Amino acid sequence: MASMLEDTTLVHLEALRVSLHRLKAFPLPVETRSAVEEAIQRSDKLAKQMIAKAGLNRLEALYRVSQALGASLDLDEVLKQVMDAVIELTGAERGFLMLVNQDSGKLDLRAARNIDHVSIDKKDMEVSQTVIQTVIKNGQGVVSTDAQRDPRFAGQDSIVFFALRSIMCAPLRARGQVIGVIYVDNRAQTGIFTNDDLDLLSTFATQAAIAIENARLYTRTDLALTARVAELETLSQIDHELSAHLDFNRMVDITRQWAVKETGATRCLLIHKEPDLALTVLGGTQPESSPTLQNNVIQAVHKALESESVQSSLPTHKAPARLVVPVISAGEPLYAIVVERPEAFGDSAVKFLTRLSVRAAAALENARLYQAVQDANTAKTKFVSVVTHELRIPMTSIKGYTDLIRQGAVGPVTEMQSSFLNTIRNNVDRMTALVSDLSDISHIETGRLKLSCSFILVKEYIQETINSIKHRLDEKNQSLELDIQDELPQVYADPNRLVQVLTNLINNANKYTPAEGRITVRANQHGNFVRIEVVDNGIGIDEEDQKKLFSQFFRSENEVVREQQGWGLGLNLTKHLVDLMGGEIGVESEPKKGSTFWFSLPIQQPAPA
Ligand code: ADP
Repeated sequence: MASMLEDTTLVHLEALRVSLHRLKAFPLPVETRSAVEEAIQRSDKLAKQMIAKAGLNRLEALYRVSQALGASLDLDEVLKQVMDAVIELTGAERGFLMLVNQDSGKLDLRAARNIDHVSIDKKDMEVSQTVIQTVIKNGQGVVSTDAQRDPRFAGQDSIVFFALRSIMCAPLRARGQVIGVIYVDNRAQTGIFTNDDLDLLSTFATQAAIAIENARLYTRTDLALTARVAELETLSQIDHELSAHLDFNRMVDITRQWAVKETGATRCLLIHKEPDLALTVLGGTQPESSPTLQNNVIQAVHKALESESVQSSLPTHKAPARLVVPVISAGEPLYAIVVERPEAFGDSAVKFLTRLSVRAAAALENARLYQAVQDANTAKTKFVSVVTHELRIPMTSIKGYTDLIRQGAVGPVTEMQSSFLNTIRNNVDRMTALVSDLSDISHIETGRLKLSCSFILVKEYIQETINSIKHRLDEKNQSLELDIQDELPQVYADPNRLVQVLTNLINNANKYTPAEGRITVRANQHGNFVRIEVVDNGIGIDEEDQKKLFSQFFRSENEVVREQQGWGLGLNLTKHLVDLMGGEIGVESEPKKGSTFWFSLPIQQPAPA
């Protein structure tokens, strides 16, 4: 506003100076002439001062706005600032900023301000297209003090129709190209803009173009970054969902759901290529649960799997748009994701499905392996169950006949024969124990092991167990100490299984503790549980081995362990039994110092699972 006022004053001052000079040409009385000359001198001085001041003001404004422009990266904000600054700097009536549309090449009006800093309506878009096109074509600014009389533009439709007078237009240049223009005009007055103004506007346009380019770049980067972050979030959610399950059918569902969600597909199939090349649909869009594959889909799937590349087809009047993405699992193109919808799929859908296929491949492979392990495990359990059942009968028979012979029921037995029969008997006992453990484990794994729990006193069963295996401790001259809390509450457990657990743990303490060693059995109440500990001062277990202790067939490499008979099944079975009775089991141990195996049993009947 200030510069507009100054500009108007300057125009009046100029008019005054012209009148004074004309006056001087007349024959004037001496006094009047000297007064006129003094007035001319004063007005010259004033004009010079005002011009200098106006120039300074403009430079100041230019500096101020340039600084502000550099600080903002929001494109709309930058454009608004640019136009406000232009209005302020030039004293124009209206100002427009137009940018060349990067896609269409046409000019888009991006900011329009009048002198009151209000955006101008579309109907006021009465600008000189000729001037603008000239600037864009030549890349040079244009100033016209009175377009109506300017030989370059006079007579042009827009100039005449919109009664345009003062016009100034400067190109916005970036990376050597005209990216748009700044156009200012004044429809009422002539002579508003000078060549100095155009210089100023051009300088300013250079600054503005840089700010616009930076803001555009930032917006592009920002948009790209936001899109990438959103994509990464989606992918991490997919990873999370896929890794949370190992069930094959669930994997198929999750993959399909994401494919539909992110591509806007109306139909989605996950297809598996069988070893004989037949295609099986693993899952289809609800309610289409068992869809039939059309020939063109079958062909597209084979092509995608053979070429290991995405097959894309556009919609036709007969068929929807389709994408077929191969899923390479364990190096083999085994599956394909098929999506369809009425409208064509974009690049983003292809990119997304390609990323999804990598994740689905890993998840499907894991699920398939898991399924295979499960199947193998079931087969193993079934096998063990059959074998143990079949072994029991002949073993009972061997044991029975061996005992009969040993007792002399079929004639006298020599000392040597008796010793051989003892060896047979011991080995049959070992085999019976193994068959019994295997049979228990297979029963547990198939959920067929039934407990018969009741409220019992732990102390009684500790005593019973010790009585039955005391001879083994005596053989190694090991001491046994009992440390059982008085008035220990009853536990809810299966007495036979409790004896089995205690036997396993005390037997191990006996086996893995040298002669003369010390074994202690403790029992104390811990909250709602009774905790039983079997402590020995034997060979101990290192940290690595402790992690594997309760897995099937684990036996330490320690040579003391290898000297002892065993199958590495006892602790695994023990843990299963304690778990089934609602307790916990653990170990604390230090090599060469000894081990404490503990387990707990509930003092209340656990709620059914
Ligand atoms: P087994 O005794 O038949 O080998 P277990 O399942 O009972 O099988 O025990 C597994 C392994 O755990 C043993 O082979 C041994 O290495 C280790 N272990 C078990 N109890 C003890 C113990 N009290 N002291 C040291 N090592 C033990």
